[in-house]
Amino acid sequence: MTLSVKQPPYKIPTYSLTGDLLSYLTCGLQYRYHNRGALPPSTPVQLWFGEFIHGVMEEAYLRWKAGKLNKFPCDWKPDVWDIETTVDRHRLSPKGLTPPSNLFDRNGVDQRIASRRAVSSLNVWGPELFPLIDEAEVRLRGIRALRPPNLQPRADYYEVQGVVDVLGSLTLSRASASNLIVNALKQELGDLSKLGPSFEVIVDYKGMRRPANNDPKWNQYAWQLRTYAWLRRMQPQSLPTAAGVLLFLNELEPSAEDISHLQEEVRAGTTDVLPVGADLAALSTWSKKSKGKSVPPPTLSQDYRVKRSIRVISVDEDSVQASLKNFDHTVWEIEGGVAQEVRGIPIQQAWGMPYLHKHGPPPIATCTACDFKSYCPILAHTGKQPPVSVP
Ligand code: SF4
Repeated sequence: MTLSVKQPPYKIPTYSLTGDLLSYLTCGLQYRYHNRGALPPSTPVQLWFGEFIHGVMEEAYLRWKAGKLNKFPCDWKPDVWDIETTVDRHRLSPKGLTPPSNLFDRNGVDQRIASRRAVSSLNVWGPELFPLIDEAEVRLRGIRALRPPNLQPRADYYEVQGVVDVLGSLTLSRASASNLIVNALKQELGDLSKLGPSFEVIVDYKGMRRPANNDPKWNQYAWQLRTYAWLRRMQPQSLPTAAGVLLFLNELEPSAEDISHLQEEVRAGTTDVLPVGADLAALSTWSKKSKGKSVPPPTLSQDYRVKRSIRVISVDEDSVQASLKNFDHTVWEIEGGVAQEVRGIPIQQAWGMPYLHKHGPPPIATCTACDFKSYCPILAHTGKQPPVSVP
């Protein structure tokens, strides 16, 4: 009697929107080492702050819902500090994420920038957003055909996964006319009544500044929210999705570096939310150094900072389909790297060069904070050398 050999299970590749597709688009080679090779970054500043601010907003929402946080604006101590320490001790430390000391004082003596951003994010967006929230941390998944050109696909489909930070629902008859999120939606989409009596909004927190409109991230975040909208529409219990909303939380408390980038973008015309009046005057005249000494950046008006902090993403069918196509192409590129590695091509060649030829080198700030810069073939090829220190 011949015993049949058990066939290996049929598996389709799974891609996370943030952990795979956006990471790959930041740098294909870095993605290979960190995400597919599971090498943790040695100085995960961005990773820590992103998880911290997400954790603060989620924990604050849970307390608000339970009636334990009912007064806005909240003070740093005791309210927000208590949330921060809970997030640090119970969510981030168990994952091995330790706060960079220049961002966060674990003893709570000095209110450093991560704590200032936590207070501003809660006080600006908490009262506007929390009453609209239906669900937080909503997991979405769907499948797409996998048809990379010039490559034998390893499956017919791939799975795309994402976690929406916040799913808000709005019933127009009950929406407050002064709500900042409702007003931003009206400004971008016009008359909201055309969307029906009730609809959903997908909200994503970003622990970063608003990207310039010539930064690849400007489009990539729009693709991300439009893909969420596509995934959400397939869930039977969903209401119509009106739009995506990105909240760039660093804009509420910008660092000197952020203000310097803003100054350059205003001069170059590469930002869409422009300063006027006193903000424009302060930005135009600020110089980082005077007589060899550092000059602190100007404090921009609250109104301007809030405007820069929110971006509404339309989710009409054409733009959703275009975004899905862009992510299909990203998956094809990753599948190409996997196939090359399977054929024995060295990692740097399989991932570094195809990425460089398709996207060009990543921004120098990405390379400066990268663990692989000392032996990176992309940097060697382009002749770029980032500063040695890690910011
Ligand atoms: S140094 Fe720059 S190009 Fe090289 S792997 Fe790191 S991020 Fe990518």
